[in-house]
Amino acid sequence: MDNGIPKHLKSYVVMVNEPKSLNDIFKVAASIKCSCGVDAFNIVTEKWEQSHESKEAEKQINALKERYKKNFPSNRWRMMDSGYKGRWWIFVEEKGNINNNKYLEDITDLWNVSLKDPLIPTYLSAICSKCSQQIVILDTRYHGYDAFAWQDTLKFNNNFKTKQKQKCRTCGNNNSKITVKISSTGKDDLLAEGDGIINEENWQDAFDWITIDLECAGCGKITKKYLDLETA
Ligand SMILES: [Zn+2]
Ligand SMILES: [Zn+2]
Repeated sequence: MDNGIPKHLKSYVVMVNEPKSLNDIFKVAASIKCSCGVDAFNIVTEKWEQSHESKEAEKQINALKERYKKNFPSNRWRMMDSGYKGRWWIFVEEKGNINNNKYLEDITDLWNVSLKDPLIPTYLSAICSKCSQQIVILDTRYHGYDAFAWQDTLKFNNNFKTKQKQKCRTCGNNNSKITVKISSTGKDDLLAEGDGIINEENWQDAFDWITIDLECAGCGKITKKYLDLETA
C-alpha cells in the first residue's frame, strides 16, 4: 500500500505515523528495521571533497582580496555581479559613494569555478548491527525533489573521501535506532507539474524535506535532527 515512503526505504520501514491523505501536503514518520528484524544500526556519513579546481580558484580569489585590502585600506572595493551578462567584476567605490563604482577587473571565470563546483551530496547509510546489511537512508544525488526533478542538470561531486561513524557521546555505543520523517507537497501537486519525470509510480521519491532522529541503542539517548535537510 502507498504510504508516501520513498521507494528506497519502503522495505525497511515500520510506520510511526501515517497521513490521512497523500494528495495534499503531508508528513510521514517511520522507524527503520533491517530485513533480519533488527533495528539497531551503525550510522555512516560519507563526505566528499571540494574539487582541486574549486580550491585553487578560491585561493586565487582570496589572494585578490588580500591585494585589494592592501590597495584600498578603507575596504571600499567589492566583488559583485556587474548586472551585465552575468559577469562578476571588482569595483571600488569612489568618494565613498556606492553608486559611483569604478571598474577594476573582471573575475567571472574564477568566480564561476569557485562557486559552480559540483554540488556536495549528502550520503547517509545504516549498517545493521546484526547482519551487516547496508541500507542507504539518504543519497541526495537521487533522493528528494531536487535530485528527482533536476536529475539531468544537477552535477555532483562524486569523490568520496572520508567516512564519519556515529558514536554516542554519553555511553560510547555506536549503534542507533533510526526514525525518518519525510515531508512532501503531496501527490496532486507533484503529478500536476507534468514534466513527465514525476509519475504515479515514483512521486514519493520527490519529497521536499527529510529529518533523521536517532536513539542510542545502548543508553537510549535521543538525538533529534541528527540530519535535517531540505531537498527542494
Ligand atoms: Zn540485519
Ligand atoms: Zn548511548
